[in-house]
Amino acid sequence: MNIDKYSICNSPIEERFFQNQKIYIKRDDLLNSKFSGNKARKFYYFILKEFPDIKKVISYGSNQSNAMYSLSVLAKAKGWKFEYYTDHLSSYLKENPIGNYKYAIENGMRIIIGKGKPKREKLENKDTLFIEEGGREKNARVGIKILAQEIKLWQQAQGIKNLNIFLPSGTGTTALFLQKSLFEFDSRFQAKVYTVPCVGDSLYLKLQFVMLDNNLLKYPTVINPKKKYQFGKLYKEAYDIWKRLKYEMGIEFDMLYDPIGWLTLIENSKILKKPTLYIHQGGLIGNESMLERYKRKYS
Ligand SMILES: *Cc1c(COP(=O)(O)O)cnc(C)c1O
Repeated sequence: MNIDKYSICNSPIEERFFQNQKIYIKRDDLLNSKFSGNKARKFYYFILKEFPDIKKVISYGSNQSNAMYSLSVLAKAKGWKFEYYTDHLSSYLKENPIGNYKYAIENGMRIIIGKGKPKREKLENKDTLFIEEGGREKNARVGIKILAQEIKLWQQAQGIKNLNIFLPSGTGTTALFLQKSLFEFDSRFQAKVYTVPCVGDSLYLKLQFVMLDNNLLKYPTVINPKKKYQFGKLYKEAYDIWKRLKYEMGIEFDMLYDPIGWLTLIENSKILKKPTLYIHQGGLIGNESMLERYKRKYS
């Protein structure tokens, strides 16, 4: 495999303004056109390492997941088969593939519907790799540590003694390993990671943290949105802020996590009193299907 094609090179950090507030954006959406965002960071370990015996990768989750698409890219690059378990697939999506589902199928993904959550202990073996939903894996730390290093070097160059970092969470893997890794570098420059749960509530998110690293010290700071949002549901204010972000900053964000992230960040303006870095975690391929749903509902 040509690793260079999927290599991660220091993504830019840009200074922007949103609602007259200065903010820095880490553009992990620009890492690589095929393999980007936090999934590229989380799966970087698998890109780097050679797996001479592995022939297949198995995972599970929703049929429009960003992780599913990124795994299809990884599997294709490595020459592995890719089997993905999902609870259901509408006949509409099957006949009109769009977004992550469409491109994962094009990359050769085999989808297995309605068989329940696959059992790791049964399926994982010498030639089969098993990856938890959303890439919630300990070895994700390898790629996220590189992200932390890039941020820390930038922070030092800017002379920012106290930096706030904000990113929305699903499994919490990125936020957790980012905060833990940042503590390993130069302590004269401090960086505090804030995150908001988008998939479950804050208890769910903390349980995810514990599964990955049971040392409760140096966890990210979890803040809740004012309103309860159900993951994947459409909200007018989410659509509005997504459009405003695009208009004011010229940056397209993801439509699942980022609207909740930005709405929560703005509700907690205390965070913005210090220099703040928002991590753009990619996921733009997923917008294809989200935007279609939003347009149908609101315009
Ligand atoms: C997967 C994903 C997340 C959530 O990442 P976790 O590491 O699971 O918390 C957030 N934003 C985007 C765009 C994603 O694709």
